[in-house]
Amino acid sequence: MFHIAGEEDIKKGRLTDIYFERTERILKSLKKNPVVKAEIFLKDFPDDYKWGVLAGVEETLKLLSDADRISVRCMPEGTVFRDYQPVMVIEGRYLDFGIYETAILGFLCQASGIATKAARCKIAAGDRLLYSFGARRIHPAITPMVERSAFIGGADGVSTNLGAKLINSEPVGTIPHSLILIMGDTVEATKAFDSVIEPAVKRISLVDTFCDEKFEAIRVAEGLGKSLFGIRLDTPSSRRGNFKKILEEVRWELDIRGFDKVNLIVSGGLDENDILKLRDIVDAFGVGTAISGAEVLDFSLDIVEIEGRKIAKRGKMSGAKKVIRCGRCFTDKVVLEDDRAADYKCDKCGSTYKDIFIDAIKDGEVIYDFPEVKDIRKRVLSQFKNLEL
Ligand SMILES: [Zn+2]
Repeated sequence: MFHIAGEEDIKKGRLTDIYFERTERILKSLKKNPVVKAEIFLKDFPDDYKWGVLAGVEETLKLLSDADRISVRCMPEGTVFRDYQPVMVIEGRYLDFGIYETAILGFLCQASGIATKAARCKIAAGDRLLYSFGARRIHPAITPMVERSAFIGGADGVSTNLGAKLINSEPVGTIPHSLILIMGDTVEATKAFDSVIEPAVKRISLVDTFCDEKFEAIRVAEGLGKSLFGIRLDTPSSRRGNFKKILEEVRWELDIRGFDKVNLIVSGGLDENDILKLRDIVDAFGVGTAISGAEVLDFSLDIVEIEGRKIAKRGKMSGAKKVIRCGRCFTDKVVLEDDRAADYKCDKCGSTYKDIFIDAIKDGEVIYDFPEVKDIRKRVLSQFKNLEL
């Protein structure tokens, strides 16, 4: 048996922190089950991030749709949010959803951390392609979620079959070192790939196995000719020296031989800072650990109203709130949920704010059409113009 939980374990609350289970027992024995409103938000982002990309909403709503009689308002998946902004408000009898707190936060914290990191990498990459190649760095049971979150954040492709299926796409890959080592020669390995693998798959060779990148790149380009889409440099950091210079040299040598259409793909321990340095010379980035092992975002869930009374713990503003956002300049304001957003003019530019929350679940019923994952990603990309790394 693998060390994983199934969907039923999550739905039955078997993965909840035990103190919620004990709280449930206590409240039940005292016959206390008030109607509460609880908000999910975060105080601090990792490092010095100024924003995050919300992901994990679909799984959260699917879990909560099993709970009785609760209502949920939230930002839609793929929304850029800032610290101290509620991203979701859950309303209902505490015992109907309290047991799910651990799972809800788990869904949102990890998926949003990955989507946020992918977005940072995609902003750094600009019009260059970004592939999520980090499946090998995480437990395989969660690979589909990880790859979906990476795609939502802006990755152009993912590497596994199941991950790609979840985003209605085809998996992306190159050639591993093992094929080249077994074949004994980079050109032979690439030719074997070319003769066996269906033509729809782009031919991307790997040029750092046996020799210098430049000479292998030239050999592969001459050996494959026009069918070669690109070459990947996975040069180990111990051999890199000035990686950008190596790439410039490879580009030069290919260009002067007429292989200017051959794309340069790089991988190996990259993050958004490396991407920024290399994007002028690189056509596509394969990012692993930085995205799949991204730091989680520390959301918390806090009660802000009990039976209509506004109350919250120290350090947290009471009352259920929502976020309104200026459509023109992306300025936000947090207001009470019954505030009329239409009455506000943007403090910064004078344009109008818009309520960016959606009604997702009403009295136990999902009243929200889950968008296509491609459309969620499109929305994320459309918000990039307002963001800085
Ligand atoms: Zn504005």
